[in-house]
Amino acid sequence: MLPLLKKPKIAFFSFTCCEGCQLMFLNCEKEFPVIVELVNIVNFREAIDEKSDDYDIAFVEGSISKKEEVKKLKKIRERAKTVVSFGACASTGGLNALKNRFPMEEVKRVVYGKNASEHKISDTLPVRPIDSIIKVDHYIHGCPVIKEDIISTLQSLILGKTPEVWNYPVCADCKMAGNICVFEKGMSCVGPVTRAGCKAICVTYGCVCWGCRGLVSDPNINAHRETLERYGLTRDSVLRNFDLYGSYRMHKNKKRL
Ligand code: SF4
Ligand code: SF4
Ligand code: SF4
Repeated sequence: MLPLLKKPKIAFFSFTCCEGCQLMFLNCEKEFPVIVELVNIVNFREAIDEKSDDYDIAFVEGSISKKEEVKKLKKIRERAKTVVSFGACASTGGLNALKNRFPMEEVKRVVYGKNASEHKISDTLPVRPIDSIIKVDHYIHGCPVIKEDIISTLQSLILGKTPEVWNYPVCADCKMAGNICVFEKGMSCVGPVTRAGCKAICVTYGCVCWGCRGLVSDPNINAHRETLERYGLTRDSVLRNFDLYGSYRMHKNKKRL
């Protein structure tokens, strides 16, 4: 049991990302009167002007893609008692890690033009999740994170408990939602090995699961392989589906990283 935190100071930081996960925190409108009774928000660029370097819990959103971000992230780790990786970009590298599929020189040229090296922002690095640089204490998964996970993580940290992370596949959520499996419709889906907790929202609304919550800790690869075989698919034919949110993991051993 961790110590009970009496009105902890919490801070939000964002690196390379769309800041949609911080926006999800702002979406907790109904809970806000209670939240502000229980925590002091001391750093949150999307909502307040004040900034403080004195905080207990740092919620870090976004992946790391610049040298200056590495320095800033290490400073946050030095100052915070607890670091929470906030969303897919921070936890897995997220969509940003798609750029790791290409040589950095090509990425710079395509984005910044032929004079990329003269551009200040061109110190761009291969994208990394934050736990490849600092120790992370807890994770909130998803792109974006969901309100239920934000609230339950906050509750646990205040109560001195370790926040729970869902560790079963999206397929279980999907069955509970009463969806027809998309494999039956000739589509492919990474739900069988993806961390649940989102109620399989993408499938429910007519899409497939792209794996934004990352892999479960111990994915049942054999069962997934059997499912693919049953529907006439091969490992190679679906590999690209894992690339959207799994690019960092899939390409990290390549030389250019
Ligand atoms: S995880 Fe998704 S919603 Fe959150 S910051 Fe990254 S891209 Fe935006
Ligand atoms: S494979 Fe996808 S569509 Fe099928 S049950 Fe699992 S999550 Fe649902
Ligand atoms: S269904 Fe898959 S892609 Fe959609 S929110 Fe859930 S984990 Fe993310």
